[in-house]
Amino acid sequence: GLAMAKSKFEYVRDFEADDTCLPDCWIVVRLDGRNFHRFSEQHEFKKPNDDRALQLMTRCAQTVMQELEDIAIAYGQSDEYSFVFKKKTRWFKRRASKFMTHVVSQFASSYVFYWKDYFKDQQLLYPPGFDGRIVLYPSNQNLKDYLSWRQADCHINNLYNTVFWMLVQRSGLTPVEAQDRLRGTLAGDKNEILFSEFNINYNNEPLMYRKGTVLIWQKLYFQVNEIITKKIKLPKEAEEKEVEVTRTKTKVVPLHCDIIGDQFWEEYPEILAE
Ligand code: ATP
Ligand code: ATP
Ligand code: MG
Ligand code: MG
Ligand code: MG
Ligand code: MG
Repeated sequence: GLAMAKSKFEYVRDFEADDTCLPDCWIVVRLDGRNFHRFSEQHEFKKPNDDRALQLMTRCAQTVMQELEDIAIAYGQSDEYSFVFKKKTRWFKRRASKFMTHVVSQFASSYVFYWKDYFKDQQLLYPPGFDGRIVLYPSNQNLKDYLSWRQADCHINNLYNTVFWMLVQRSGLTPVEAQDRLRGTLAGDKNEILFSEFNINYNNEPLMYRKGTVLIWQKLYFQVNEIITKKIKLPKEAEEKEVEVTRTKTKVVPLHCDIIGDQFWEEYPEILAE
């Protein structure tokens, strides 16, 4: 057919680089909002944590998991999300650029598409962008350490931001003064400031802020079947037909739990199983 016909221009395809991901490795795509420091100010995000923004990020990540193939787990905090593809995935012949671009573009279009569901009184003022990167992890331990690293980052930033914004919003310090006050302080010092000056026990802050969001496929205690109708072109039949198809319906569920310790991995061994 037409697609098979080769032109004298065909050779330019050989200039494309091979970006096949190494076999048997976990493929992680991490995206991050572009200049969200500014974006969050212009869209009047509540500081330090705007629930609408966090929930919108998670809605977009759920869409990515449902629309794309073979994502085993995702983890998000602030303006970033990481997606972990199964180590045996054959999706797009494991081409790195396909994974990264499909994840980031699906996420970015979802962010705009679902914006109004979360920001009811706040107009989207300009189209946001996201960067993406891809990293391969050869062992389960490497992957667990990667996710632990992101969750530890969430904790460190959130503790800092919680004290910082208390000093600014409650004590009336300027951002520069608050920054100076916190320079060189350790985690214990920050907890102490929160407790003694603002009567806040950091451990009682919402889990979503302290732990970020883990997305996993719901455990199938029972199978939920869904009957959908699909237009299918059957072999040897010229016309497309409406056919009933039964498929197993699984859902992506958000958790705000610790993923650094062993407990999470013991409770959900299937995530690392294939
Ligand atoms: P870059 O383009 O390099 O990523 P950036 O401004 O996005 O620049 P980040 O390090 O990614 O820098 O930081 C994200 C910024 O977005 C932080 O300033 C953070 O306060 C803000 N932000 C993200 N999510 C929220 C949220 N849910 N509530 C309040 N602020 C948020
Ligand atoms: P893939 O995800 O592999 O890219 P695809 O369905 O997008 O799958 P393409 O080879 O990219 O496959 O082909 C794009 C398709 O979109 C074609 O079938 C083409 O007919 C249709 N299409 C794109 N732009 C237009 C347009 N402006 N008008 C009509 N059809 C269009
Ligand atoms: Mg950054
Ligand atoms: Mg960012
Ligand atoms: Mg970020
Ligand atoms: Mg196409």
